Amino acid sequence: MGTAAWVCFECRTAVRRDTQYDGDVPCPNCGRLCAYLGYKIPVPPKRKSREWLRLRTQLSAEKAARELDAYLVRDREKTALRQEIARLIAKGPNPGRASTIRRLQRRLAWLES
Ligand SMILES: [Zn+2]
Repeated sequence: MGTAAWVCFECRTAVRRDTQYDGDVPCPNCGRLCAYLGYKIPVPPKRKSREWLRLRTQLSAEKAARELDAYLVRDREKTALRQEIARLIAKGPNPGRASTIRRLQRRLAWLES
């Protein structure tokens, strides 16, 4: 167990917390929520504004990539559920099958919400 850094890009300030910490980290200067940086990425010196901008851009790009991955995983699961529901419906009525179809439809509805 070690410490990780959270940073405020407005103030170019770093705050350290235990790596297990999972709450919000407000900036001690401005009170805005700090962004999680982790423990591997070095915090740039306060005066190096270009390094701070590069870091901010990098974190934004990584976040966008993670969100896209999550969207694609969800989309693949929705497609698989629709295909499975259609396959089970095509097999005809059966009490066990009906309950499976309802369960899959609930999961699909949850993914689509
Ligand atoms: Zn701040």
